[in-house]
Amino acid sequence: MAKIIKKVVAKKAAPAKAKKQVKEVKKELEPIALQPLRGMKDILPEDQPYWEQVRRVTERLSRDYGFSRIDTPIVEFSNLFNRSIGEGTDIVEKELYSFVTKGGDKVALRPEMTAGIARAYIQHGMNVLSKPVKLFSAGTVYRYDRPQEGRYREFSQVNFDSFGEQDPILDAQMIQVAARVVQNLGIKAIQIQVNSIGCPVCRKQYKDLLVNYLESKATKLCIDCKRRMEVSPLRVLDCKEDKCSQVAVSAPQSVDHLCEECRVHFKSLLEYLDELDLPYTINPRLVRGLDYYTKTVFEIWSGSEEGRKSSLGGGGRYDGLVKMIGGEATPAIGFAFGVERIILEMKRVQAKPYRAPKPKVFLAQLGDLAKKKSLRLFSELEKNGILVAESFGRGSLKSQLRVANRLGVEMTLILGQKEALDKTVIIKNMISGEQETASAEKLIDLVKKKLKTDNVVVYHDHNHVAEPSQEQEQT
Ligand code: AMP
Repeated sequence: MAKIIKKVVAKKAAPAKAKKQVKEVKKELEPIALQPLRGMKDILPEDQPYWEQVRRVTERLSRDYGFSRIDTPIVEFSNLFNRSIGEGTDIVEKELYSFVTKGGDKVALRPEMTAGIARAYIQHGMNVLSKPVKLFSAGTVYRYDRPQEGRYREFSQVNFDSFGEQDPILDAQMIQVAARVVQNLGIKAIQIQVNSIGCPVCRKQYKDLLVNYLESKATKLCIDCKRRMEVSPLRVLDCKEDKCSQVAVSAPQSVDHLCEECRVHFKSLLEYLDELDLPYTINPRLVRGLDYYTKTVFEIWSGSEEGRKSSLGGGGRYDGLVKMIGGEATPAIGFAFGVERIILEMKRVQAKPYRAPKPKVFLAQLGDLAKKKSLRLFSELEKNGILVAESFGRGSLKSQLRVANRLGVEMTLILGQKEALDKTVIIKNMISGEQETASAEKLIDLVKKKLKTDNVVVYHDHNHVAEPSQEQEQT
C-alpha cells in the first residue's frame, strides 16, 4: 500500500515540476517585438495595386526595349561591394549590412544591384553574347541609413543595365527608358538632371583642381566634407549642408575639364536628348554616390511644386566596373529606380494604381450536398478562365446574395439541394432578377455566352499592362 501511495505522489509531483521548468524557460525568452526592424516595412494588401502597377510597367518596358530578366542573390561577398562601389563612399563606409557567416565568409546584403549583376555577367561569360547585353532586375536592397520619409533600410529597386556598348546613343536610350518608366506610371512632371564626371584620366586632373579649391575653403565645410575632401572630393559637391552647398556653387565644374573623348561623348548625348525632345538640366553638382561611375551620370527628379525635389531614380555609365572586378574591359551603363519613392510620388500626384479584374459571377450554395459540389464547380469555372467570387462559409442564401450584390456581379449561380441532385444550376441575372435553370454539363458554355466573349476574364495573363481605367483583361 505504501508503495502505491508513493507512486501516486510521484505521479502528481511530476506535472508540477514540469510546469516550473516551463515557467523558467518562459522567463528567459525575450518578448517578440511585433514590428519589423527600423527602416523596414510590410507592404500591405491595400498598397499592392501600386506595386503591381510598377511591376507591370517596368517589366513591360524592359521587354519592349530588349532587356532580359536577371536575378542575383541578395547576399554577396563583401569585397564585391567594397571594391566596386568604393571604400570611401557612404554606402560602403556607413551603410553596408555586412557580417561574417558561420563558415567564416565575409558577406554583405546588396546595397544596390549593379555590382552583383556585373559579377554575374563575368561569371556566366555573357561577354560572348551579342552586344549590348541588356539586363533587367528588380528586388530589395539594404542600406543602414538614417530612416525618414522616402528613405528606408530595406527598399526595392528596379534596375536596368546595358553591357558592351560605349556609344552615347545608349546613354540617351537609358535616359529615355527611365523617363518612360515614370511617365507610364502617371508621373508626368519630372526633371532629368544630367552631368558628365569624365573618365579616370580627365577626372584625375579635375579632382586635383577641385581639391585645391576645397582646401582653400576647408574652414567652411562640414566635418563630413572635410573628410570627404581627402577620400571622395566629388561628394562634397552634393552635400546637403547649407555651408557646403555655398562652397560647391563656385567650385570648378567637371564639364569644363573633360578630355576630348569625354567632351564629345557628353555633347553627343545632349544632342540625342534634344532629338528625343527630352528636356534636361545640366547639373554640375550631380556626382552620384558610387565610385564606379564614368562620363554620364543622371537622375530623374520628381517635379513637386512645393520645391521638395526627390530623386526617383538615377544611374550612369560605368565603363571601368567590369574590368575592375575581374572581367575584360566592358563599357556599360545602367540606372535604378527606388520603388517606394516612385509609389510615394504616384500617390502624391494621384496616379492610378493597378485595378485588378473584378469577378462578374458569384457562386452561392445551399445545403450540405450543394456545398460539397460547389467546391468542384468553382474550380471548373476557374479553369475555364471565368473569375468567380464565393462566400462558402455562409449558410444562408440571403446573406450570400447580399455579398454578391455588394461585389456588383452580373450573375449568381445558385446550387441548392435539389439542383445538386438533378445536376442543374440556377442562373440568376443580378440586374433583371430573372432566373433560369441550366444543366450542370452545359453551364460553363452558357455562362461564357452570357458574359459575352469580351467579358470573360482571364486573370492569369501577365503579359498585359493594365491601363489605369481598365477593369478587365480580355482573353
Ligand atoms: P542609388 O542607388 O543611390 O543611385 O539610388 C537609386 C534610387 O533608389 C534613388 O533615386 C531612390 O529613388 C532610391 N533610394 C536610394 N536610397 C534609398 C533609401 N534609403 N530608401 C528608399 N529609396 C532609396
